Amino acid sequence: MHAGDVGCGTCRQQSRKTKAVPVSGNQTLADIVPYRQGRHGPAGAEKVIRLSANELPYPPSPSAVAAFHGTGQSLGRYPDGTQADLRRVLADVHGVPEKNIFAGNGSEEAIGLVIRAALTAGDAMVVNENSFVMAEIHARSVGAEIVKCVETDHRPDVDAMLAAVTERTRIVYICTPGNSSGTYATRDELRRLEAGLPENVLLLVDAAYAEFVDASDYGTGQSLFSAQGRVVMTRTFSKAYGLAALRIGWALAPDDVIDAVTRLRTPFNTNAAALNAAAAAALDQDYLKRTVARINATRNSFSASLRKIGLNVVPSQANFVLVTFPAGGNEAVMLDAALHAAGILGRPTEGDANEFRISIGTDEEMDLALEAIQDWVGGQSRPMET
Ligand code: PMP
Repeated sequence: MHAGDVGCGTCRQQSRKTKAVPVSGNQTLADIVPYRQGRHGPAGAEKVIRLSANELPYPPSPSAVAAFHGTGQSLGRYPDGTQADLRRVLADVHGVPEKNIFAGNGSEEAIGLVIRAALTAGDAMVVNENSFVMAEIHARSVGAEIVKCVETDHRPDVDAMLAAVTERTRIVYICTPGNSSGTYATRDELRRLEAGLPENVLLLVDAAYAEFVDASDYGTGQSLFSAQGRVVMTRTFSKAYGLAALRIGWALAPDDVIDAVTRLRTPFNTNAAALNAAAAAALDQDYLKRTVARINATRNSFSASLRKIGLNVVPSQANFVLVTFPAGGNEAVMLDAALHAAGILGRPTEGDANEFRISIGTDEEMDLALEAIQDWVGGQSRPMET
C-alpha cells in the first residue's frame, strides 16, 4: 500500500507536491509527479540485465520483423490514419467489431485518449491499487481526482471499487493483471463490477498483460463489451508480442467513446512501421503462444526458486513477479542496490510499500538474477517473509 492511503483515498505518489510550472502557468500540472521510466542501467556498464520494464526478452514474430522492414520502401508516405488493416486483423483475431477499435502510440496513449474523452475537471476516476500510473497522470492532467482503492492480498477489490463510486465518478479503471501485483480480477468479479456501476460511468479494463494469463476464470472485459455499452478494454503489443520499441496498442470501445476519441486523436498517432508490424504479429498467434509458454515456464520456476530461499512472491499471471518484504523495512531498496551492483535492474515500488518487481527475462538472465538475490538474502539478518 502507498503511504498516505486510507481505504480508498488519493494516491500518495500523485499528491506529493512538485514544483510549480511557471512557463505554462497550468497549475493542474504542477501537482503531477512525472512518470518514472524503467531504468536503462549505468552509463558505460559492460552488460546490463534489464528486468525493470516488463519487456519481452525474445525477438518478436519473424513476420512482424519482415513487415517492419517492408515499411522501409514507403517511408515517404504518411501512415494510414484510419488504421484500417490493423483494425481489420484485430477484429478477426478477437472477434470484435472493427468500427469499435482504435490504435494508439502504445496502449498508454489509447488509455489517455479514453480518459481525456470522458473526464473533465472536477470528475473522479476510481482505480485499483496495482494499476498503471500513467492512467492517473492523464486523469489528473484534466483536473480530475483519483480515488485509489487499496487491495487485500494484492488482489483488486471490486466491492471496494464499487463502494468508492460517487456522483462525480465517470471512470472506473481496473488494471488486470495488475501492475505491479501480477494478480487478476476474475471474470465474475469484472461482471459484478460492471453490473454495479451507474449508467454514466465507464469501466476501463487495462488488460496489457492478458496474453500471459493461463487462469481459466480470467476475463479481459471483452465479453462484457457492447457497442452501446460502457466497457472499454485496452491491449498492447509491447508485452507478449515484443513490440515495445514501436509503441503500438489498441482499445475496444463503445460507439460514443470512439466518436469522442476520433475528435481528439491526432490523425497520424500510430506510425506505419508499427501498424504493419502489429498486424503481422497479431496474425502469428502460434508464435505468440510459444513465446508466452516460454515466459510463463520461466516465471513459474523463478517464483518457486525465490520461495525456496525464503522470499514472499505474489502469485503472478503476468511477465513479472512481485517480491514483498515485511512493512517498515527497506529491503526492497537494499535488494535493488545489490542487484544494481551486479548489473541487474529491477524496480522497487514507490512509497514505503517495501516491494520489488522483477520482469521475467530469459532463463539465463533469471539464473543470474536468482544467484544475485540468493547472495543478498544470505547477508540479511531480518526474516524475509511478510
Ligand atoms: N498498462 C499497463 C498495466 C502497463 O504496465 C503498461 C506499461 N508498462 C501500459 C499499460 C502501457 O504500455 P504500452 O504503452 O507500451 O502499451
